Amino acid sequence: MPDTADESTDPLPPLREVIAAHGLAAKKSLGQNFLLDLNLTRRIARAAGPLEGATLYEIGPGPGGLTRALLMEGAKRVIAVERDERCIPALKDIGAAYPHRLDIVSADALDIDERARLKDLKIEGPVRVAANLPYNVGTTLLVKWLTSETWPPFWQSLTLMFQREVAERLVAKPSTKAYGRLSVLTQWRAKAKILFDVSPRAFTPPPKITSSVVRIEPLMEPVAPARLGDLEKVTAAAFGHRRKMLRQSLKSLTPDGEGLARAAGLDPTARAETLSVTDFAALARTWRAAVETA
Ligand code: SAM
Repeated sequence: MPDTADESTDPLPPLREVIAAHGLAAKKSLGQNFLLDLNLTRRIARAAGPLEGATLYEIGPGPGGLTRALLMEGAKRVIAVERDERCIPALKDIGAAYPHRLDIVSADALDIDERARLKDLKIEGPVRVAANLPYNVGTTLLVKWLTSETWPPFWQSLTLMFQREVAERLVAKPSTKAYGRLSVLTQWRAKAKILFDVSPRAFTPPPKITSSVVRIEPLMEPVAPARLGDLEKVTAAAFGHRRKMLRQSLKSLTPDGEGLARAAGLDPTARAETLSVTDFAALARTWRAAVETA
């Protein structure tokens, strides 16, 4: 897609100047690899859209490259959660340039109860999430957001940067190397798509790996009924011994792994990686029935 972004619409100094002025040398301990090209951050912002009239929840804004892009591309309001206090003055400058449209939250995103926080900010309805985060934090938050007991969730879409291999796991189909617990969990109650790759050269400093922007949208109903906790249990058991047949790997759940697989309509000699998301849901329901009749 050609990029027609025009930096002249942003009233703020270039990000390199912001970083120098506020002494924001990237810290490895905080997983900081900044995106300084506003054409690229605007492309990511558009991928998180439609932004017109939308409220965005951004995690890890750092010096604000993506934050500025979201605002330039028309987000009505951005809630930006940043853990590194050094970044707050730079973010305040963005807030001043876009009055009443940026809320800065100085906190660790892992500790936030998003529903409660959004309610405090008088935000109704689901928000769009956008983030370029350290990969471990991104995966932890994604799992937290996908395993919410309350569904539909507080988010209407997630547009997140991941390490290419993690992105591939989210969208992987059965019988592929990347297929695993994260694929089942994601695809059970959401739709995930890899939108585009981002070269290490786009970041300052450059990481060692290629990144991908992924968009995830929640399904109102899961693809097949199951209890979330049961689905987590059966996928953990089955993928805990990926190379073993189900009749063996399910023994961590029940002495009769073979019986459990058969009762779910599955071949006990099959391996976890060949099972569809619907198969895992059937296994979770059968496991629940077995537990309740025991
Ligand atoms: N979004 C900016 C960009 O694209 O240039 C910064 C990206 S940098 C990879 C990740 C940012 O997330 C850093 O600013 C870091 O301080 C912040 N961060 C890391 N862990 C965090 C956490 N648990 N909660 C909130 N922010 C966090």
